[in-house]
Amino acid sequence: MTLTAGVVAVQGDVSEHADAIERAARAHGQESEVLEIRESGLIPDCDVLLLPGGESTTISRLLQRTGMAEEIIDHVEAGKPMLATCAGLIVASMDAQDDRVETLNVLDATIERNAFGRQKDSFEALLEIAGLDEPFPAVFIRAPVIDSVGEDVEVLASVDDRPVAVKQGPIVGTSFHPELTDDSRIHDLAFFETVAVEESQR
Ligand code: GLN
Repeated sequence: MTLTAGVVAVQGDVSEHADAIERAARAHGQESEVLEIRESGLIPDCDVLLLPGGESTTISRLLQRTGMAEEIIDHVEAGKPMLATCAGLIVASMDAQDDRVETLNVLDATIERNAFGRQKDSFEALLEIAGLDEPFPAVFIRAPVIDSVGEDVEVLASVDDRPVAVKQGPIVGTSFHPELTDDSRIHDLAFFETVAVEESQR
């Protein structure tokens, strides 16, 4: 069976995410097809979804206007995996603490946008991430942090004691950009580890 992965292509590093998904799929001997999604109607066909970074105000507005917002919510409610990175994490949350972002309310977290301030606008850190054996080279670009999480949310990684990677059911959210290095372990963790767990539970 070919895995259909949708990358929401409103903004952000669409081809880099597509490459990372294909690399992770190959490592699992899984055939995959990546769809770049710019309109409603395709998300229901996707087994997994990726909500990339960009500008959360713009992304949330476009998702609402196109009807993709509803489809993403349905995808998550059906228990299908989704990786939400940076602005995608902000959009997926319950509260971006900014009225200009209409959140999808699928990830029980409150977010602080642009939380690292000007001096640390962009930086790279080797992060310890729960579920990965070796540290992950995480690239942060005007990144958010997670202020608070609900009890169903597992914190996978933190910077200065503030969560930057979380998991809740089928969703993995990161405040960094896992597509900007050759390391596809976050895509693997979000999509293929979850799939493997589900299969072994059958
Ligand atoms: N600063 C952006 C926002 O608040 C997120 C940045 C990113 O996705 N790299 O929406």
